[in-house]
Amino acid sequence: MAKRDYYEVLGVPKGASKEDIKKAYRKLALKYHPDRNPGDKEAEEKFKEASEAYEVLSDDKKREAYDRFGFAGLDGMSAGSSGGFSSGFGGFEDIFGDFGDIFDAFFGGSGRRTSRSSSSVRRGADLRYDLEVDFVDAAFGTKLEVSYTRHAECDTCSGTGSADGRGKVVCSVCGGSGRVRRSSGFFSIATDCPNCHGEGYVIENPCRKCRGTGLAEKKQRIKITIPPGVEDGERLVIPKMGDAGQNGAPAGDLYIVVHIKEHDKFIRHGNDVYCAVSVSITKAILGGEIFVKGLDNSLLKLKLPSGTQHGQLLRIRGAGIPRRSNPSVRGDMYVEIHIVVPERLSSREKELFEQLDKVIGEQKSDLLSRDSIISIKR
Ligand SMILES: [Zn+2]
Ligand SMILES: [Zn+2]
Repeated sequence: MAKRDYYEVLGVPKGASKEDIKKAYRKLALKYHPDRNPGDKEAEEKFKEASEAYEVLSDDKKREAYDRFGFAGLDGMSAGSSGGFSSGFGGFEDIFGDFGDIFDAFFGGSGRRTSRSSSSVRRGADLRYDLEVDFVDAAFGTKLEVSYTRHAECDTCSGTGSADGRGKVVCSVCGGSGRVRRSSGFFSIATDCPNCHGEGYVIENPCRKCRGTGLAEKKQRIKITIPPGVEDGERLVIPKMGDAGQNGAPAGDLYIVVHIKEHDKFIRHGNDVYCAVSVSITKAILGGEIFVKGLDNSLLKLKLPSGTQHGQLLRIRGAGIPRRSNPSVRGDMYVEIHIVVPERLSSREKELFEQLDKVIGEQKSDLLSRDSIISIKR
């Protein structure tokens, strides 16, 4: 199948900003996440496709190479640990095998979990979990439970891989080395032993559940602590909660990738938050105190100066997001003032506004109508 253009995959124009690319990826990742589409091959493919596109387009170097030379420009880059997502995920190995295709294409591998390399002590794969976190929870921190699938010790054989408890027997073909020499023309080539697949031992009566690997897929539930001030896209590492290693090798890590949900009232920029409040026309003119609902639902007092303009930004210090490095320090809240003009007036109000209009009109009677035309800024 021909590969689709990365921009097309994410549905963004070629000159899209990093932010837009991230947004587009996030949307697709959440939609096609295998956890949300269990057993749906097509969704899994779409998820992989989007992840690959994101891994390239989010990396300046790779994106530049791709823009200039297309897929060919990425040869030699993808497999290296040139930053970006891949390096953090233990060489492309993560829960959904996002980058497994690239990895395999490069090293001629044949799938990660099925191939048994000659190194029989292999660290378990790192796993990735995309976690949506509520806006306010991300601000003040929380504990969340996540459940995912990982490879862990097989219950049926207690991780021995053996159905009858006899365990491993040294391979009779390679004598336990895992390697055999084979001559090919002038050369003698050492390859993985075909009998034990390079492990050096065989299990004569393998456990049926885990097919002798000693590892089986298991549902895992863990509590995750979301620290206050966590940032969108931040990766939290949960050590040793990735796949278990084979033959007693250490487990991989679990990477929680945080996606902060949008809030219907607040917008976050770094540690500052922005919101808008409506203010009566008289309050804007005369000034006074208003109350604004804070992130934690507390009422914050905001002093409105007299002559406040529509669209003016007022700041409430320390009412923003706690700092990630020091949660006792918080960013600020910026409040945009929206002046509301009343649509209906009582007869009393109308009377007063008419009086007011007269007073203002007398003061400014020298103003011609054309002076009141202002330029439209778009
Ligand atoms: Zn062997
Ligand atoms: Zn087993």
